Amino acid sequence: MARYTGAVCRLCRREGTKLFLKGAKCTSDRCPLEKRNFPPGQHGKDRKAKIVGYGLQLHEKQKAKRMYFTLEGQFREYYEKASRATGVTGELLIQQLERRLDNVAFRLGFAQSRRQARQVVRHGHVTVNGKKVNIPSYQVNVGDEIAIREGSKKLAVVEAAGQYAAQSPVPAWLEINFENHSGRVLQLPKRKDVELPVNEQLIVELYSK
Ligand code: SF4
Repeated sequence: MARYTGAVCRLCRREGTKLFLKGAKCTSDRCPLEKRNFPPGQHGKDRKAKIVGYGLQLHEKQKAKRMYFTLEGQFREYYEKASRATGVTGELLIQQLERRLDNVAFRLGFAQSRRQARQVVRHGHVTVNGKKVNIPSYQVNVGDEIAIREGSKKLAVVEAAGQYAAQSPVPAWLEINFENHSGRVLQLPKRKDVELPVNEQLIVELYSK
């Protein structure tokens, strides 16, 4: 399945919740969900059926998948890996999503959204332990030093993102140096460290059928 390249605000409207895909716009009154909180399309306003059971499980999976910009196959791989590991499957699933380099770049304030962070990583502006890594799905580990490359620190997108992120709470599992556009992984993220409006248990129920 190809990656979604359409208007991302439609995804929020489809899920009926903020997925925070547009940075500063998401927390402003310019967010389309503030005025049009109903599914997109000609008959969007008429769809009022309550989602239950399988539909609800699917809904939670789509939300998480869209928030982290992953494709179905990769998302399923995260689940498979989590279900084989020791621990709570749902929490391990979220941990893998959080450990993605594009997500970490977003959390460290290198970009205003995960979508933008994906581009920043893809374009080779990010280093891990001093080496360029341009793979958005790269999994960071405890002790890794993540930074914006020296030559990319003055990029307008990076500077604007740093100022925006400096006003947001710092995740407990990361250390951030906003001035230097760098950070370090202090520990692997626990579920309580991750602010995410997703019920991962429903995703586990969906996949374990
Ligand atoms: Fe979603 Fe952000 Fe668009 Fe609002 S502005 S609909 S939260 S992507």
